[in-house]
Amino acid sequence: MNSIEIKKTLMEKGEICDPCLGRQITLRHQGISNGLIGAALRKAETEPEIDKIIEEQPEPEIKSDCYLCEGLLTELPEMHSKLMEETEKWEFSNFLVGTKVPGGIAENEEKIWTEITPEDAETIKRQINRETGKKLEEKTGTEAEFEDPDITFILNFKENKIETQIKSIYIYGRYKKLERGIPQTKWPCTHCEGSGCEECDNTGQQFPYTVQGIMEKPLLEMTKAEESKFHGQGREDRDALMLGNGRPFVLEAVNPVKRRIDLDKFHQKIKENSEGKIEVSELEYSDKDKVVELKSKRSDKTYEVWVKAKQEVSKDDLNKIQEEFEDREIEQRTPTRVNHRRADKTRKRNVKVIETEKVNDNEFKAKVRAEAGAYIKELVSGDYGRTRPSFAEIMKNSLETKKLNVVKVHGSDDD
Ligand SMILES: [Zn+2]
Ligand SMILES: [Zn+2]
Repeated sequence: MNSIEIKKTLMEKGEICDPCLGRQITLRHQGISNGLIGAALRKAETEPEIDKIIEEQPEPEIKSDCYLCEGLLTELPEMHSKLMEETEKWEFSNFLVGTKVPGGIAENEEKIWTEITPEDAETIKRQINRETGKKLEEKTGTEAEFEDPDITFILNFKENKIETQIKSIYIYGRYKKLERGIPQTKWPCTHCEGSGCEECDNTGQQFPYTVQGIMEKPLLEMTKAEESKFHGQGREDRDALMLGNGRPFVLEAVNPVKRRIDLDKFHQKIKENSEGKIEVSELEYSDKDKVVELKSKRSDKTYEVWVKAKQEVSKDDLNKIQEEFEDREIEQRTPTRVNHRRADKTRKRNVKVIETEKVNDNEFKAKVRAEAGAYIKELVSGDYGRTRPSFAEIMKNSLETKKLNVVKVHGSDDD
């Protein structure tokens, strides 16, 4: 169908505005706005005339009684000024624009496409997205990004507002925990569930310090984000230290206003806020994929465990566990200390006692390498026969863990 025939078909049906007219043949005049194409098409008598009239730059007319957009395009300037206001609030280096239009308008569009050949047409949504994107690029000096934008603006014509979706910031690093009694992630207070009460000193938190909390404070200050999420590559017990090369983590800032923070400064602020409780290293910008990678990684850990025995420990006992656990698969039922919150299952894990050292008559120290997910305190005590074999079983002694440190999170099997 040629452009003049399309115009006639569309204009016979009632009032139609220039952008709605031009939009139906937009691909025949690339780089020209639909309004201008429509204004030229309205005046043209033949196909070749259209380009000539475009050069004269006729003023496009937008009608509130257009049967196609139902006057929606007259609302576009107001929507754009709302959008520009919104862009002032956020820092971003690329963006995406989306549009929501009332259902009736998409139906109008589909209906007329059964009467004209629409292969050179675009939807009203696409027109608005494209033209708005261009405007935003000019105004902000940033670029449209379709794969993974920092920020997405939705022009919602159904509710006459701008919706904004902001991509989180992800910061990778490794942490060491140098003080016992600090959980990795924030826990809401069990009395008030986070709203704040006397028990928790109105913090809403079960513990005054967490690894996440220590890093979160400077993160929220610097990014003006709403909240943080902490993704660790596994976690150690609250009362275990995390030493050696530290544990990999990704710290996520949700709905950040500022995206480009100085990581050296952030590092410095964590240091000040932690008062020696934790140390972080290797901070760098990362992404969501890294979180998935961390969560799927099953890395070995090496531990140092200090064990207290009921009866005296002999050198022979220590040799025995070193032999017995040279490279041994153990079976562990979910420990009694956690089975109120985890399903009772049996897991198999490989463990290896690397070295042992007698501390005094009733105490010894062991260095143990274990697969991800092994329960070390239960490897020591046997947990009433729920972990087999255990140090206690092999030594025929009653044992408990006095102190536990993670000294290495291994990267791969051979490291
Ligand atoms: Zn229209
Ligand atoms: Zn509370």
